[in-house]
Amino acid sequence: MAKNTDNRNRPTRVKVRPANVAAERPARRQPPKKQGGGAATVLLILLVVLMFAALAGWLVKVALGNDRKEIKPQTSAVSSEESLAPAESVDVDALTQNFTYVTVNSKQMNYGPLGLYSEDLGYPAPQLESVYSSLFNSEGLQIASAADSKMKADKALLQPLNQMLSDFYDKTGLRTIMLTQAYTAPQAEKEPQYTEGYYDDYGNWVEPQLIEQPAEEKTCADHEDGLEIDLGLYLDDVGGVTAFDGKGDYAWFAENAYKYGFVLRYPEGADKQTGYAYNVAHFRYVGRAAAAVMQEQGLTFEEFQEYIKSYSFDSPLSVQTSVGCQVLYYIADSGMETTDVQIPADGEGNECPCIISGNNSDGYIVTVAPTEEFVLSVGAQGDGSSEISNDTNAE
Ligand SMILES: [Zn+2]
Repeated sequence: MAKNTDNRNRPTRVKVRPANVAAERPARRQPPKKQGGGAATVLLILLVVLMFAALAGWLVKVALGNDRKEIKPQTSAVSSEESLAPAESVDVDALTQNFTYVTVNSKQMNYGPLGLYSEDLGYPAPQLESVYSSLFNSEGLQIASAADSKMKADKALLQPLNQMLSDFYDKTGLRTIMLTQAYTAPQAEKEPQYTEGYYDDYGNWVEPQLIEQPAEEKTCADHEDGLEIDLGLYLDDVGGVTAFDGKGDYAWFAENAYKYGFVLRYPEGADKQTGYAYNVAHFRYVGRAAAAVMQEQGLTFEEFQEYIKSYSFDSPLSVQTSVGCQVLYYIADSGMETTDVQIPADGEGNECPCIISGNNSDGYIVTVAPTEEFVLSVGAQGDGSSEISNDTNAE
């Protein structure tokens, strides 16, 4: 029988393992060599060629990230939570009984899906991939389009985006969604645009002037972190691209995007908080847990950042998402160069899959997405109780 010790009173500081411990792959088995006649040799060559073609296809698929298998706690970029086999329910007390630390650099307070791109603080280069693969459903039917064939976004959102577009198509039969914008390079990396120099009426040379986009023409922001998408419509009968108005069938997105980890970043009537006018077409990927909280509580991104501060590691917020139970909490920045962020661990110090995101101002928001496997290993260390604890001490 497992010992029921209160490990919380004597936390063992477990050294954080390197983030990328690649599992060793077993050596690939070679096809057995056979001696045979001419026809058999030709067949064998054909078979080998076919096998290599299949292998090449698999490698391309892996390169495209369709076969992601695991998520590691990380601090520098956004990971996908889609590859997890999520836990249906979580005993929060058991989950936080053991913990380990992940050390984050306080300069990274804007890193992650719940922080925002900052020109001053800098931002890690997003893990960009073409959005192309997310425009087809599982039957290979193109269900949406992109305004730019080279459009890219952070790979964390591609699978959820694909699922959202597929489900919208299944629901409505419409294949009219066109992504009009995803990742855009930071201003510093863009070629500055200048007016042409000219001689004025008095014969004086007027130097070329830097062209800056007027603030009132900016309808959305933060596309630099690769987590934002703008929707448009491509309508054959109209003969081209039209604005996404979020009406009729398209209201589905504002109502359902959270199930896939997206939120309407600039909702109606929230311009005071967000600093931007209502934008029905601009969605941000924040992960399913944060999106579910924002939707349920009717919070803007900024309000969520404040709201989550009342949830700590010892008293976290658990939320039921479309892929299982997830847990959220806030860790204040230490004010030093680094901050040790508490992460649930099993009895052997293995961290629970999680995403650590800065909040741009004073701390970190941790999203824990326990897998079935992890919950089982925690359960074995705990008191064996399988009771579901819905930790909803929300104000
Ligand atoms: Zn936008």
